[in-house]
Amino acid sequence: MSATVGPVSSVSTGVRTMFAMLTPNESSFEKVEDVPLYVQQATPFFVGLMVLELVVGVLKTGAPVVTINDGLTSISAGMISRLPMLFFRGFELTTYMYVWDQYRLVELPWDSASTWWLTFVGVDFCYYWVHRFAHEVSILWAAHQVHHSSEFYNMTTALRQSLTQQFTSWMFYLPMALAIPPSIFAVHIQLNLLYQFWIHTELIRDLGPLEWVFNTPKHHRVHHGRNLYCIDKNYGGILIIWDRLFGTFALESDKVVYGLVFPIKTFDILYVQLHYYWGLWRKSKKYNITNKLSTFIKGPSWKPGKPRLGDHCENPKVTGKEVPYDPSWPLPLQVYVVLHFLLVLWAYHDVFENKMMLSQLTVLGMTCYILLTLTSLGYIMDQRPSAAALEMLRCVIMVTMQRYSYVTPLLPSLAVATKAFVSLSLLFWALHCFTQLLSIKRKTG
Ligand SMILES: [Zn+2]
Ligand SMILES: [Zn+2]
Repeated sequence: MSATVGPVSSVSTGVRTMFAMLTPNESSFEKVEDVPLYVQQATPFFVGLMVLELVVGVLKTGAPVVTINDGLTSISAGMISRLPMLFFRGFELTTYMYVWDQYRLVELPWDSASTWWLTFVGVDFCYYWVHRFAHEVSILWAAHQVHHSSEFYNMTTALRQSLTQQFTSWMFYLPMALAIPPSIFAVHIQLNLLYQFWIHTELIRDLGPLEWVFNTPKHHRVHHGRNLYCIDKNYGGILIIWDRLFGTFALESDKVVYGLVFPIKTFDILYVQLHYYWGLWRKSKKYNITNKLSTFIKGPSWKPGKPRLGDHCENPKVTGKEVPYDPSWPLPLQVYVVLHFLLVLWAYHDVFENKMMLSQLTVLGMTCYILLTLTSLGYIMDQRPSAAALEMLRCVIMVTMQRYSYVTPLLPSLAVATKAFVSLSLLFWALHCFTQLLSIKRKTG
């Protein structure tokens, strides 16, 4: 068994990685350092599958399956969720390696197919419980609700990930560290995540006998629904058998209406990530100490006098006539936002590629800049009155960064991006003034 470091060796391997279809022979490694960064290398396949879904969607339904504002918000959430990795290795792997080093009971062989398959099933079983707890314990749901906050369902939704969930999910995998080598765990924790990308689509309706064993688009659509029959159902990662075994399985029936029970109706990226913590705090303030505690550890629908998970019948009823949040906005602004988004994506990619050569301060500065940019673009998509001022502030910061050569010498490719930012920002300002003039004209006319 040979350990391969570096890029996924071929397109076919890359595609199979997206479906967790690697063999034990090609994905067993002795050392954690030898395990490929499958998730990081999957970016072209994420883009490829999203484009494929868009094209097939247009051909099949005559309309795009994704909107610019919702899709960009989902990709932004995905970007934000990985920012901590600029500063430390993933929590799941770090804590796992600590338990393995200190407390392992047996040492299963890393180069055995049985170990590989046992880990495949073990990671998926633990994921089921990570996911179920994330829905049934309010403080954990505050993190996981991010993934459910889109009212659309397409492959960009898969990337809408939580920033804070990684700080608690690691503990569910620790029992495996008593026997299974970290290098094999490091493979499966990535494959399990990657598998869940392609199931976020409405275009695949039914996969026949596969529906019995595997988590499929049909099953996962139910998981994202806010219809009564969908709440707290289908938690599986790769396998759906856990839901069938533990009584949380539901078959897709009525048309699924996606999103949170109380939709957030915003593209403000920090609000998407953090709003529920504030909501929980406000809810707990009404109660005495026991009920305060229950607010955080019982289900999101729980109220005093109700069962642990609350009464879902009290939630707003789904009528099927719900209209997803998708405010109309002028085409030039759409072009502006998409271009600026691509530029910040480029900067994001550059920081990850060069993080070993950059000082902690530069990485921190770029992290703040990325957060500011994604926030500002969200404000524009929400069409908030403060968007123009925030966007101009962001542009001034970018110009200042360039003026003092703070970033440019370290990240040469950013020099071009910076110039493009400045030019486009001026264009934005001109457009903003133009639309302001038009609206004033309309009001006075
Ligand atoms: Zn979920
Ligand atoms: Zn999902």
